[in-house]
Amino acid sequence: MISIDEKICVGCGQCVDICPGNLLELKNSVARIRDVRDCWGCCACVKICPKNAIAYQLSADLGGTGAKLFAHDSPTKLTWQILKTDGEKTFLEVDKHQANKF
Ligand code: SF4
Ligand code: SF4
Repeated sequence: MISIDEKICVGCGQCVDICPGNLLELKNSVARIRDVRDCWGCCACVKICPKNAIAYQLSADLGGTGAKLFAHDSPTKLTWQILKTDGEKTFLEVDKHQANKF
């Protein structure tokens, strides 16, 4: 499931437009998810948010309880960042021109 940091969100609406399930909405110029139980974790909103206001909550077996997954997108690469509760960060880079090889 995802979480949205209301203090970081600037209300651009890009996550609302891209969610394939129409699960997100803007309320008072801040993004919110209508019912987080409906989210199937495709991470489209995580990837498109220009402010990194949306995080995917990782399960205990993936990143440890409380760990979050963020995405930093650029024209050439997508960088996934895992942030653990102790502050440890792990980065996974995907070269967009090579992504179809895997
Ligand atoms: S992770 Fe996917 S399904 Fe869930 S809110 Fe974001 S875009 Fe919608
Ligand atoms: S894409 Fe990010 S900044 Fe824009 S409305 Fe959604 S959460 Fe807020």
